[in-house]
Amino acid sequence: MTDEELIALARAAALKAYAPYSGFHVGCAVVSTRGEVVSGANLENACYRLGICAEQSALAAAQHAFGLDQIARIVVAGGTPGAHGLAGQQPVTPCGGCRQALLEAAQLSGHDIEILSASGDGRAMRRDTIRGLLPHGFGPEDLKDAD
Ligand SMILES: [Zn+2]
Repeated sequence: MTDEELIALARAAALKAYAPYSGFHVGCAVVSTRGEVVSGANLENACYRLGICAEQSALAAAQHAFGLDQIARIVVAGGTPGAHGLAGQQPVTPCGGCRQALLEAAQLSGHDIEILSASGDGRAMRRDTIRGLLPHGFGPEDLKDAD
């Protein structure tokens, strides 16, 4: 799938978010090394701290579909639902917790993961890698000495 198709998928996933408290909808598409795609959206809860990010939701789907160690890239888009779909002009990058979860997948696979962050309206984006967004992060590689 092209960047544009994946951004459209992430934006569509965001519209399926359950975000009654923040009103901020985030969608995430995860692409495997073989081109398989799964998606997820944020899922809030009345007990605020129990909310789940779109990336975590999509990572769970990815684990079930093809395995965390097969993730090649992810696409994230976030904003507010509007009359013409998801709106918002600022690219949305993964939060710190999701960066940690993505680093886990990257270290499992042994290769970096591309992160494409898009605005709600899909017009603005930035391209990063998880090792760029979380330099010197802690992951499975740091537990090699544990028994
Ligand atoms: Zn997050």
